[in-house]
Amino acid sequence: MANIINETVTYVHHWNERLFSFRTTRKDSFRFENGQFVMIGIEVEGKPLMRAYSIVSANYDEYLEFFSIKVQDGPLTSQLQKLKVGDNLMVSTKPTGTLVKDRLVPGKNLYLLSTGTGIAPFLSVIKDPEIYEMFDKVILTHGVRAVSELAYQEFIRESWPSNEYFGDVVKQKLIYYPTVTREPYANQGRLTDLITSGKLGDDIGMPEINLEDDRFMICGNPGMLKDLTALLDARGFKETVKNDAGHYVIEKAFVERG
Ligand SMILES: Cc1cc2nc3c(=O)[nH]c(=O)nc-3n(C[C@H](O)[C@H](O)[C@H](O)COP(=O)(O)OP(=O)(O)OC[C@H]3O[C@@H](n4cnc5c(N)ncnc54)[C@H](O)[C@@H]3O)c2cc1C
Repeated sequence: MANIINETVTYVHHWNERLFSFRTTRKDSFRFENGQFVMIGIEVEGKPLMRAYSIVSANYDEYLEFFSIKVQDGPLTSQLQKLKVGDNLMVSTKPTGTLVKDRLVPGKNLYLLSTGTGIAPFLSVIKDPEIYEMFDKVILTHGVRAVSELAYQEFIRESWPSNEYFGDVVKQKLIYYPTVTREPYANQGRLTDLITSGKLGDDIGMPEINLEDDRFMICGNPGMLKDLTALLDARGFKETVKNDAGHYVIEKAFVERG
């Protein structure tokens, strides 16, 4: 098929009964910007079935990595969750998306606000060395319902800050703030409430968000996007529209169907 390449699955990891990650080979010709998404899929009943997926790996990694939900009756993910090493994955050759660094006006702090699988594009963004040249602090938040949904914690807390090339700057600049809504955990509550109440800032030692210093990339469920954009708009922040860079960019982590 035009505009589709085939890659081979090289690694699969199941986080829990709702979430898994997988890696594939990556053709040299496949280029993307950190934070973008791409259509991926497999053959279901003899036909290609493709869905949008954020790319977790960085644009310099030799592999492609994705982080996926398992929707029980989902046309794609009911099958995709059975992926094994050696299986084929179809990948479109046209990555796209708004969660890219040059779509924001310059600022001091970059907030990456995510819920659920919405953390996926930010795993790529925090691996981008230029992000740490552009911002003094990079704050990655991840809101989930249950503790077992806090995927990639070990990578964010341990392996990435220990990276031999980028570890020092990551230790200085990257702040990770996971929060859980339906189980006991160190940080609890919804991101919107944590920002409104000032608790997020207090917990991470940052001042109240302000127009001059703070920029945002947001990826999550439709309700979270609505609440956070209302919160930012009320404080005078402007969303990036087309090629006009603003203070924040948003992307849906998924679309409600049916
Ligand atoms: C820009 C963009 C980027 C995306 N990136 C990712 C990604 O990195 N990882 C990923 O797992 N999905 C991602 N999605 C969602 C993905 O495209 C599919 O919807 C998902 O794989 C389920 O496919 P499906 O065919 O099994 O079910 P669908 O028919 O697509 O979805 C069925 C229902 O499941 C729910 N649902 C779908 N996806 C999710 C999700 N991720 N989290 C919670 N509930 C969901 C919705 O209520 C939806 O109505 C993205 C979607 C968009 C628009």
